[in-house]
Amino acid sequence: MILIVDDKPENIFSLRKLLELNGFEVDSALSGEEALKKILKGRYALIILDVQMPGMDGFEVAETISGYSKAKDVPIIFLSAVNTDKQFVTKGFQSGALDYITKPVDPDILLLKVKTFHRLFEQRQELTRVSLVLREEIEFRKKAQSELRERVQELRSILETIPQIAFTATVEGEIEFVNQYWFNYSESAERFPTNHPDEENIEEKWAEAIKTQEPLQCEVFLKMPEQDIYRCHLLRAIPVKENEEVIKWVGTFTDIEDQKQAENKKIEFLSIASHELKTPLTSIKTYFQLLERSLNGMDTPMKYLNRTQWQLNKLQSLIADLLDISKIESGKIKFNRKVFKLEPLLGSAIDIIKHTHEGYSIVKNGTVDVKIYGDEIRIEQVLINYLTNAIKYSPDAKEVHVNVSMMGNKAIEVRVKDFGIGIPKEKQNNIFQKFYRVEESSHRFQGLGMGLYICAEIIRRHNGSYGVESRPGEGSEFYFTLPVANGEEMPD
Ligand code: ADP
Repeated sequence: MILIVDDKPENIFSLRKLLELNGFEVDSALSGEEALKKILKGRYALIILDVQMPGMDGFEVAETISGYSKAKDVPIIFLSAVNTDKQFVTKGFQSGALDYITKPVDPDILLLKVKTFHRLFEQRQELTRVSLVLREEIEFRKKAQSELRERVQELRSILETIPQIAFTATVEGEIEFVNQYWFNYSESAERFPTNHPDEENIEEKWAEAIKTQEPLQCEVFLKMPEQDIYRCHLLRAIPVKENEEVIKWVGTFTDIEDQKQAENKKIEFLSIASHELKTPLTSIKTYFQLLERSLNGMDTPMKYLNRTQWQLNKLQSLIADLLDISKIESGKIKFNRKVFKLEPLLGSAIDIIKHTHEGYSIVKNGTVDVKIYGDEIRIEQVLINYLTNAIKYSPDAKEVHVNVSMMGNKAIEVRVKDFGIGIPKEKQNNIFQKFYRVEESSHRFQGLGMGLYICAEIIRRHNGSYGVESRPGEGSEFYFTLPVANGEEMPD
């Protein structure tokens, strides 16, 4: 908006017409005093100021304006009918004005000057706006940087206090911070400690993690400089993300040597104990059979013998499970794989269960005329385990179903369905874990929670899948799948 200040309305009228015709918005004041009031209230891009006015003259107005912080930079064009001499022109400029035009006004010249000043005003405004935005941006960045510095400092303090080797690294994988423990195993803050020569190279694993941006977790064996003992460490490194983008890496090496040794001792103990228990048990069973034969026909002793036999079988299966667990843990479980027909195996497992659990009806649905490549005895073990559990956890039911079917033409599925106590939904994921027992029923039913863990391992090692579907109070359906032999199996 342009403000025209002149004491003669006819002058204002003609100037206003000229400017409005050229697309400018115009306001006017008939005296210096009125002009000052308007300037205080509004915002003007340019002031056209008549010099000679009764009361305050143009120069006085200009001088007053130069004291207003809001308007001091607004350009002023003085108009004057007389006083074209140098003294007046100079006075005009000294009081903060930018240009000077004599009356009668040449419209072309006035327009040219107005346009120039107006453009200048707009450019200055734009410049002010841009510099404001820039200042805000700089402030924002400064704040973000100082926050980041604080966070980095905080993270480093935490990493300094934990009793592990800890480090942070850049997105490119360059180590940027290491805590004091680092130097127990590495002489340089830039290089990773070295792994045992027989183990994988840490730098290579690290490079791979940086490339894929996937968390890294592996066991490494580190040696203190000038010592000959390697200690097992768990190396874990995770990418730290901000807005889905990796910004750095944080990692630790945790000494798990003592844990490892305790674990190995446990596995070793389990293995020795179950072997030691198995030997006398086998002898007892043999003597027991001899005794059974010699007492054949004598009712009372036979009753006691049968009960003893039942307990012996339980003991034997417990020891067998313990032995299996120790083999799984130490990675020594072996499978005698060959190609075999599935149906006879199913029949035999069902017969064994019928024999040992009289009064239960095992209903088999479906047949599959296919061969499987695997360890027949171990697969039978899985089915027998499912079936004994089905009976054990169905105290009020007398029926168990075995459903066998093909899954496409490449796999079979065996499902053992009972009508027993069922398993709560949130526990179903856990029951294939080692030593896991459902708490609600554990006091009612004896067991050690080993069977399903062994079953899971057997099926996994045969490239099959397993699982359970169950509703508490209605029953459970345990299943496993196995790939069908394709004729290309290699003997072990
Ligand atoms: P165990 O029966 O010796 O406890 P398992 O590994 O065979 O060990 O089973 C683990 C747990 O899963 C059991 O303790 C039991 O809580 C639950 N479970 C297994 N089979 C069934 C079933 N058919 N019905 C209900 N719960 C079952």
